[in-house]
Amino acid sequence: MAQTQTKSFFWHELSNQEAIKKFNSNLEKGLTAEAVASRYETYGWNQLPSHPGKPGWLKFLLQFHQPLLYILLLAGGVKAFLGSWTNAAVIWGVMLINAVIGYVQEAKAEGAIASLAKAVTTETTVLRGGQLLQVPSQDLVPGDIVLLASGDKVPADLRLLKARSLQVDESALTGESVPVEKTIQPLPPETPLAERTNMAYAGSFVTFGQGTGIVIATADATEVGQISQSMARRINLSTPLTRKFAKFSRLLLYVILTLASLTFAIGLGQGESWVYMFEAAVALAVSAIPEGLPAVVTITLAIGVNRMARRHAIIRKLPAVEALGSATVVCSDKTGTLTENQMTVQTIYAGGQLYRASGSGYSPKGEISRLVHSGSNPDAIEQPFEDGLPPALEECLIAGALCNDAQLKQDGEHWSVVGDPTEGALLTAAAKADLSQSGLVAARPRLDSIPFESQYQYMATLHDTEYRVVYVKGSVEALLSRCTQMVDSQGQEIPLARSPIEQAVEAMTAGALRVLAFAKKAVAAHQHSLDHSDIATGLVFLGLQGMIDPPRPEAIAAVHACRTAGIQVKMITGDHIATAQVIAQRMDIPKAERVLAFEGRQLAQMDDGQLAQAIEAGDVFARVAPAQKLRLVEALQSKGEVVAMTGDGVNDAPALKQADIGIAMGKGGTEVAREAADMLLTDDNFASIAAAVEEGRTVYQNLRKAIAFLLPVNGGESMTILISALLARDLPILSLQVLWLNMINSLTMTVPLAFEPKSKGTMQQPPRNPSEPLVTRKLLHRILAVSVFNWILIFGIFEWAKTTTGDVAVARTMAIQALVAARIIYLLSISQLGMSLLNYIRRRSPAVTNAPILIVGIVAAIILQIVFSQWSVMNTLFETAPLTGNQWLVCLLPMVLMVPMAMLANAIDPPQAKAGRAR
Ligand code: ADP
Ligand code: MG
Repeated sequence: MAQTQTKSFFWHELSNQEAIKKFNSNLEKGLTAEAVASRYETYGWNQLPSHPGKPGWLKFLLQFHQPLLYILLLAGGVKAFLGSWTNAAVIWGVMLINAVIGYVQEAKAEGAIASLAKAVTTETTVLRGGQLLQVPSQDLVPGDIVLLASGDKVPADLRLLKARSLQVDESALTGESVPVEKTIQPLPPETPLAERTNMAYAGSFVTFGQGTGIVIATADATEVGQISQSMARRINLSTPLTRKFAKFSRLLLYVILTLASLTFAIGLGQGESWVYMFEAAVALAVSAIPEGLPAVVTITLAIGVNRMARRHAIIRKLPAVEALGSATVVCSDKTGTLTENQMTVQTIYAGGQLYRASGSGYSPKGEISRLVHSGSNPDAIEQPFEDGLPPALEECLIAGALCNDAQLKQDGEHWSVVGDPTEGALLTAAAKADLSQSGLVAARPRLDSIPFESQYQYMATLHDTEYRVVYVKGSVEALLSRCTQMVDSQGQEIPLARSPIEQAVEAMTAGALRVLAFAKKAVAAHQHSLDHSDIATGLVFLGLQGMIDPPRPEAIAAVHACRTAGIQVKMITGDHIATAQVIAQRMDIPKAERVLAFEGRQLAQMDDGQLAQAIEAGDVFARVAPAQKLRLVEALQSKGEVVAMTGDGVNDAPALKQADIGIAMGKGGTEVAREAADMLLTDDNFASIAAAVEEGRTVYQNLRKAIAFLLPVNGGESMTILISALLARDLPILSLQVLWLNMINSLTMTVPLAFEPKSKGTMQQPPRNPSEPLVTRKLLHRILAVSVFNWILIFGIFEWAKTTTGDVAVARTMAIQALVAARIIYLLSISQLGMSLLNYIRRRSPAVTNAPILIVGIVAAIILQIVFSQWSVMNTLFETAPLTGNQWLVCLLPMVLMVPMAMLANAIDPPQAKAGRAR
């Protein structure tokens, strides 16, 4: 075996043959299975070790990097200085617990996102043992012969052996954003990395053309491997929402610090002891800040990500979860996303004659017959062929089968395609006329090809028969403009007559058929390579094939769901405008009675203002060039829309990046598109987009619930402390106890809210206004109202218990227990469990949702509260006191009072999305 990865030469200075020889490889056959197996032993998987980003200890320490924790650290320090060591230890202990919870949460969320991203593997086309195979790119070994096509991610470092207009984007490696044109000639040894045009490096992307290369380095040995520290994809847990939170808590901190110092100063001025006032100031600061909130936000987002993954939408960038919840427009691909992409050729037009192909799917069972209109009968009747296949039809079918990169696969009775379904349909059509792909290829071997790119809308192949011939297939527009001749019914070439062809196209597209045109051209006998200029003109038109691509039933339902949710659906397609219109109509996409459709050409002529209007109003955008998608997104955004946009091609990347939610296809899409996207659809299905939107809305709803649940307790506590301190009364609640309530009690009861399932009304409301603050006016009113209730509760119980028992510790404990008891009712009132319990009582309908987790949370909270007051250790730590049975009963009383309060709060600000308020 070749000694490779320690070397005294540069790969780019070798000739192709030398490079291949170094690895005992073979350009025609690739490596043998044995060679591959033994090389795994030597080189291992082609996989970069994952770099964890920040080290664990740093992440842990960063948990303390929050303004609130600074206050606590300081407060603990002062307590220790005053000699209250237990106090100091408890404060620090709670801080530690909080940091551990935060750390574990973060690690889990990061892990979940990272493993989702990993589950989507990159496939590579490799030549092994004389066969082309699709393998995960981590399976590559040095010496493998790899094929590159536009849209691919270069899977390992390659020395290029063949290149056809190959362009590679190496910005990840060199920072150069303009794609580099690749060559295969040897270069001088001193050529710097960025100019080694005969190399393709792992991690870069093919933006155009095709190429073949030999793997010269894998995994760590690649150029990125050497610098992989900087390439490791950082998982970022920050989103617009978490940043808003951070900003909000900083602001809150300043307010609280000011308030606390004021209280401190005023108290001192009134002659209070500074120990009392310090305790009051700390308690105030601690009480006002919702310590549990950051953890709940992370958990809620992480749960949203998981739920989306279960519904086939994989989040690559966390902010997309939020953006999904406010999406107002979804721009979707047609083929494969809205439709099944299960193509069957139904109608063929050749030599001025229409034919019908029977049968369905990719099975070659079926007949082709002539369609004849007889005078009296408006319906066509089908006639079998008497004297063999008509020559024009045969040519058309041959062109379809030869200008083709797909293969049919038989599995018992079941036939499927490997490759593009459009091309599979053409193979099946040919097979129905007994024209087999293998037979045709044997008789006319392929010399060269130009692959299909949506930019050009055609594909061409060069074949060697008695003479050299090019077959071309593509969109009618792209081909007809290049044709000068056509084949008549006898197979003779005659001058092109456009109008009958256009009529046939019209008839086919009206039936929602996807139409492809076919042409050929004879070229010079010595020609063995093909270029776009070779087929710019002078083609001979052979015919048309129209295939059905039915809408996905679940996509129709999803379009409807989006409509009810106030989200516009727009179809963006490279296909013919008429076909797109018919499909859009069938899927009920149009906003108005009829589909409003635009073609890419029309859009190109509009100025920005006109364009924005057309795009806002239109339902279907056909024959759209990928570059136009970017303009589409920008125009929609200029109108204030939050845009989700799908894409699969190389040229879709800019639009995917610009969109608020860029969506790439997990099955069909290119690597370039996936890398640019925020979200991947593992099933390429439009219905999954609607599902993700629904989950995104639920995440937001649940966050609002968590806020509605948490903040009133903070509000009640700080009111209590502020007022009692200013009145110079005993504090009804101490800073340590506030810590317990805000960190331990809040967390056990708030986390279940992150698991709340979607409510029925989630998709029956208009999208959230993205500029609407998280805490809306209604929510604020709710928080204030319940805060006041909580204040009265704490203050009232404390003062009453203090006068009746004369024991401050008992009074404080009772105030806290009463608060928690009322809180349980409040929790039920905003959760779906509470809702369904209420429904159950009212109508006896037994639908109870999200019960288990919520019940676990409540039971845990109850047990902790009992321990909090009844266990002597806790009494020492938190200055609580055990309660008697009667005192417990008093504490349960506020549960009853909370019922009307919670109803009022729900009237001010409904916690669930109401069903049936569609726009
Ligand atoms: P869509 O947006 O519906 O996925 P595409 O961009 O894939 O459309 O295709 C646009 C047009 O290009 C099609 O209507 C068809 O005429 C032509 N076309 C599609 N696939 C191929 C192919 N494999 N070879 C040649 N032409 C194709
Ligand atoms: Mg497509």
